[in-house]
Amino acid sequence: MVLHELMLGIHFVGLLFSFFAVYTIAKSENKEKANYMVVTIVCNIISIAGYIFELMSTDLSAMLVAVKMQYLGKAFVGTFLLFTFVRYYKWKFPKAVMRLFWFIDIAMYFVIITLDKHEIYYTNMRTETVNGHQFLVVGRAPLYVAFMVYMLGTLLLFSFICYRNWKDAKGRAKKILGKLAVSSVVADIAILLSILNFTYPYDMVPLIIAIFSIVISVFIQRYGLFATLDIAKENLITSIDEGVIVRDADGVFQYANPRAYDMFPELESVGVTVVDKNIDSILAGRDSDIAMFRGRYYQVKLRTLYDEKQEAGQMITFFDVTELRESNKKMEQLKIEADNANQAKSSFLANMSHEIRTPINAVLGMDEMILRETSEEHVREYATNIKRAGETLLYLVSDILDLSKIESGKMVIINERYNTKDAISDVINTFTIRMRQKGLNFITEADRNIPRSLVGDEVRIKQIVMNLLSNAFKYTEEGYVKFKVSGEQKENVYNLTIAIEDTGIGIKEEDISKLFESFKRVDEKKNRHIEGSGLGLNITRNLLNMMGSDIKVESVYGKGSTFSFTVSQEIADGTPMGDILSDKGKADIHEDGRAGFTVPDGRILVVDDNAVNLAVVKGLLKKTKVQVDTVLSGEECLQKIKENKYHLIFMDHLMPEMDGVETLQKMRETDAHLNSDTAVIILTANAIAGARETYMAAGFDDYMIKPVDAHVLESIILKFMPKELIKY
Ligand code: ADP
Repeated sequence: MVLHELMLGIHFVGLLFSFFAVYTIAKSENKEKANYMVVTIVCNIISIAGYIFELMSTDLSAMLVAVKMQYLGKAFVGTFLLFTFVRYYKWKFPKAVMRLFWFIDIAMYFVIITLDKHEIYYTNMRTETVNGHQFLVVGRAPLYVAFMVYMLGTLLLFSFICYRNWKDAKGRAKKILGKLAVSSVVADIAILLSILNFTYPYDMVPLIIAIFSIVISVFIQRYGLFATLDIAKENLITSIDEGVIVRDADGVFQYANPRAYDMFPELESVGVTVVDKNIDSILAGRDSDIAMFRGRYYQVKLRTLYDEKQEAGQMITFFDVTELRESNKKMEQLKIEADNANQAKSSFLANMSHEIRTPINAVLGMDEMILRETSEEHVREYATNIKRAGETLLYLVSDILDLSKIESGKMVIINERYNTKDAISDVINTFTIRMRQKGLNFITEADRNIPRSLVGDEVRIKQIVMNLLSNAFKYTEEGYVKFKVSGEQKENVYNLTIAIEDTGIGIKEEDISKLFESFKRVDEKKNRHIEGSGLGLNITRNLLNMMGSDIKVESVYGKGSTFSFTVSQEIADGTPMGDILSDKGKADIHEDGRAGFTVPDGRILVVDDNAVNLAVVKGLLKKTKVQVDTVLSGEECLQKIKENKYHLIFMDHLMPEMDGVETLQKMRETDAHLNSDTAVIILTANAIAGARETYMAAGFDDYMIKPVDAHVLESIILKFMPKELIKY
């Protein structure tokens, strides 16, 4: 009797726990995923309730109703359980088999609710009194046994799948699957015993399955079985390439991920203490966060773990950087090689530019003399062609040199005070004649309120403007080229805007972005006859970028283009510069390139080891009537300055024995000559970055680049000759 009450009690407790399990899942984070689990447990509840009802019934018809109720749960529970985990772990399970399971369950249930109408399931049903209690006693038909075996089969299948997945799983998943496998095997055994009638007159199946479901619910509670985020974290830590080892606050080893086991195989065999020591010695021995052991390099990081502000332990991570180090080393090596190659390229370019400039100097100089002296029209034409080609070659050399400076990062912007009006006039003067000769209308507009003096890199701004103007000139056949300078003042900064507009061939919209690539010329077919290297705009943009500006292009193909830019320049003297055109000061140089002045009483000395160069300078200065002495070496120069007083000395740099710089030093060391205060101008083909600064620092008064430009030569004479000697 006590046994009967006990059995009832146990089943009631099972019922209660099942309710609790449903509650647990309802509270869990991922209840959607546990839907099937809830249904499984509800099936249990129905089946236990049905069984309790059966145990309490005293007549056969009530017992049969209870049995039908039990099966409502029992018939489906195995399939639901299987389905829960198939879906959750994404186990591969044929859909057709799953459908077959459902079909069998439904068919069986149909057989069971009609069990009193046939003998397919129970051959007979009666009540029997055992120990004073009424029990349902049935005769088992083969289908009954088959269904029991089928139920056992689904559960066994579940156990088997758990086991198989457990073998491959890692970390938390392994733990859960292991426990699931064990508890489902226990349930299997219980069902088997029940089939074999070991528990007569009681049926333990509903209870066993209930307990099993409850166990799963406990897992959900304890391990957050359906908490995807936790599982994701777990997977992450087991799959990352970093080895992770966790110790608690007392330094006792707690956890290592699989990668750490790979790195420290002794974690598995020798035991944790050894590894711990190993790690400590690694951590202690490292001077950077890179440690080396077993021939590989690891980046080691030690992080303290906190649990609500209290130190909970340490996490040590090891990241294998061996390959990374090797490829870094290779990259460094490659970089050194590339730097060396680049260095070699730069010095090659600088040397080449020097070497090329020297002969061009001779060619252009001699040619200039022909132009000045010939009266024969066809000779003048030949010479003009030579001049044009020579100048093109010279621009090309300068452009290549500039580009190599920019690429090697040696180009620097040198900000100095400059006179705006002079700079603008220079540019206008350079182009007026050329434009007129080509039949182009050269319109110049300069805001008279532009400050008289600004701080910036005049040389580079001029280079940019000249480049844009010569493009406008080159690519315009008729109409006009407009050069407009304007700007606005913002406190002590002047935003100088320069725009160059032409009515030339224009640029197709799709070509505009290509303009700035080096060696890129657009619309090549049409431009074939126009000389150019495709470097100018690239250099222009680079220079502007270095000044914190950029170039703007607007163009209509076939109509014309406007190139413009704005550079911020510090104001040195804010007085308006006035009108450019009314200024006559720049008329010194005549349109035909001949000097507009003479200095018959002026005397200059030119020092160069190359006789042709001497002849060039002498020839170019012929019209100025200045007296020119020439010498071929530093020594001769030192001799000459003792004999004569000069107003100006031009000195070559590279000469055999004593070079220009040394000669100047010797000259400045002693007073035993007549030229202590004479200006000495370096005349050199060295045009590399910083050359001017170097020469100025060496004591020269000015810097002139070869090939000698007649205009520049004349302007230097004007600058350094005593004013009273100059005759206009
Ligand atoms: P290039 O030495 O060929 O003139 P640039 O870099 O100065 O080299 O110019 C690149 C290309 O841009 C030129 O080849 C030309 O096709 C086009 N271009 C530049 N300026 C103009 C312009 N004012 N009008 C039409 N096309 C131009």
